[in-house]
Amino acid sequence: MIQEPKYDLHSHSYYSDGSLSPTELVLKATERGITHLALTDHDTLDGLGEASRAADKLGLNFINGVELSCTWEKLLIHVVGLNVDPSNKILQRAIKSNKQRRESRAESMYEDLEQNDIDIRETVIRNLKGRGVPTRPHFADALVEHGFAKDKKQAFKRYLVKGKPGYIPMLWPDLNEIAKAITSAGGVAVLAHPMRYKLTRTKLSLLIKDMVAAGVKGIEICTASTDKQQIKMLSDLAQKFRLVASVGSDFHSETQPWAKLGQTEPLPKELTPVWNLF
Ligand code: AMP
Ligand code: MN
Ligand code: MN
Ligand code: MN
Repeated sequence: MIQEPKYDLHSHSYYSDGSLSPTELVLKATERGITHLALTDHDTLDGLGEASRAADKLGLNFINGVELSCTWEKLLIHVVGLNVDPSNKILQRAIKSNKQRRESRAESMYEDLEQNDIDIRETVIRNLKGRGVPTRPHFADALVEHGFAKDKKQAFKRYLVKGKPGYIPMLWPDLNEIAKAITSAGGVAVLAHPMRYKLTRTKLSLLIKDMVAAGVKGIEICTASTDKQQIKMLSDLAQKFRLVASVGSDFHSETQPWAKLGQTEPLPKELTPVWNLF
């Protein structure tokens, strides 16, 4: 029997804020019937080698990916780079710079929390195990572990967000710089989870226009949380701006039931899939 292709081009491992090792992630993907998987950890390429080796063993098609944070009009935007060359120096430099920004933000976060009599430094560092890039979910987990919140969701409500202890505003690189780094590495730059930014359709169109000028070629249409109406709206935008379409669950862990690995609607037939460019 020939297996139907099934793509999931947005996922995380424990090299950023996911809970699984790249090997465990690849295994889970095969169990879910995924035939093509991209690992897209935040601001790191460190999990790609392991994932690629595991995928080879299991006969799964693996795509090298990364999710980079950047700024557009003072907003935090995530861009996914797909089919990138991990040995590309320009991409590596952009990632190194984002990692350094994360390290110095983490330091400021510890200090801000300490001002509020919260000391979770040791716990965050222990949970990073020397391999992950520090992300806010690492802080959220540590806050839960120390009893400052009952779960991650509450931790993100009481802390780490604007106006709350542990929130440190970030200066991420400009969208243009990030798109260029991905493109230089032979990758396809894709706007991640476009509904997450809570923009009006007009503002979203402005973002896409600037993205296209910056060299972004694609947009995520089907994510684990997009409904039929949103898929229709995003498909219209993709066609209007001649963008290729991507599919990605944004899986982090099984404790995040709203983003299950492989749980995405199929791409509308009228769209050009991003994998045509791989
Ligand atoms: P960072 O890039 O370190 O600022 O962390 C952003 C990450 O935090 C996102 O990629 C999500 O995985 C996670 N995140 C953001 N908001 C929430 C929330 N309310 N609940 C759980 N996870 C969240
Ligand atoms: Mn994340
Ligand atoms: Mn994201
Ligand atoms: Mn993500």
